Amino acid sequence: MEDEKLNKEAGPIVEVPGENKTAQLYPHIILQVLETSYITHDVKRFVLEKPSDYIFNPGQSVNISINLPEWKNELRPFTFTNLPDDDYLEFMIKIYRDHNGVTQKLESINKGDELILHDIFGAIQYKENGVFISAGSGITPFLSIFRYLNKKKRVKGNILIYSNKDHSDVIMGESLHTMLKDNFITIFTRENVVGFIEKRIDRDFLIDHIKNFKQNFYICGPESFVLDLKKILLSLGASVDNIIFEY
Ligand SMILES: Cc1cc2nc3c(=O)[nH]c(=O)nc-3n(C[C@H](O)[C@H](O)[C@H](O)COP(=O)(O)OP(=O)(O)OC[C@H]3O[C@@H](n4cnc5c(N)ncnc54)[C@H](O)[C@@H]3O)c2cc1C
Repeated sequence: MEDEKLNKEAGPIVEVPGENKTAQLYPHIILQVLETSYITHDVKRFVLEKPSDYIFNPGQSVNISINLPEWKNELRPFTFTNLPDDDYLEFMIKIYRDHNGVTQKLESINKGDELILHDIFGAIQYKENGVFISAGSGITPFLSIFRYLNKKKRVKGNILIYSNKDHSDVIMGESLHTMLKDNFITIFTRENVVGFIEKRIDRDFLIDHIKNFKQNFYICGPESFVLDLKKILLSLGASVDNIIFEY
């Protein structure tokens, strides 16, 4: 990558929790898109070039904008889905086609185009084994975390509950199933099948699937989903310190 693309001036050095490394917080960095593809009907995967000293933790996100004059100041948060050691960066982004926003514009962004990555941040970081609960594109931080745990052979003992409207919305279902096996539980709120009964992750569902509420819970999805689940988990005995969430 050319040096002028990398603005290293104002970025402080920070410690990376759990790793014997530090990360440079770049104010912004312009990166080329290497590859794109659709992984569901409305989720597009972007592979970007990665500078050799670019560091992130599994579960972290970054504010991204499109390097076009009218779009470069429109920052939106997206989550790294690959491993920090990979020599590329990967994002899986749900495209909102009915709305003139950044994700609609990302539909036209492909190989050779450029994105601007701004500050890295994120509340979701793996502490210890626990129950991961996500909805829709809220799976992205967990995908990076499970890929990381899988590499370290530490997936066992974790449970992932993943809610979607229907089967066609599931992001990386096969890969998650391979890593988690029976501890990967999918639930669908809508299904185009006669007689289908809507299912939700509610109090009864959690009691049926979780034996121990004195463990870590990681929740990621839309705000109402996260806040509802947090409330139910607390009422079932989970400790507020053990609920890690982002929306
Ligand atoms: C920390 C964090 C990490 C995230 N990581 C990811 C990720 O890895 N992958 C991912 O896909 N998403 C992720 N998101 C969500 C993502 O940031 C939003 O989907 C994105 O910002 C939407 O940008 P936009 O400009 O297209 O829409 P905006 O203009 O910002 O609108 C956002 C919301 O508007 C709603 N909307 C849709 N249509 C309309 C309409 N016609 N009128 C008004 N509102 C409408 C959508 O529900 C959407 O959520 C993350 C969010 C956060 C906070």
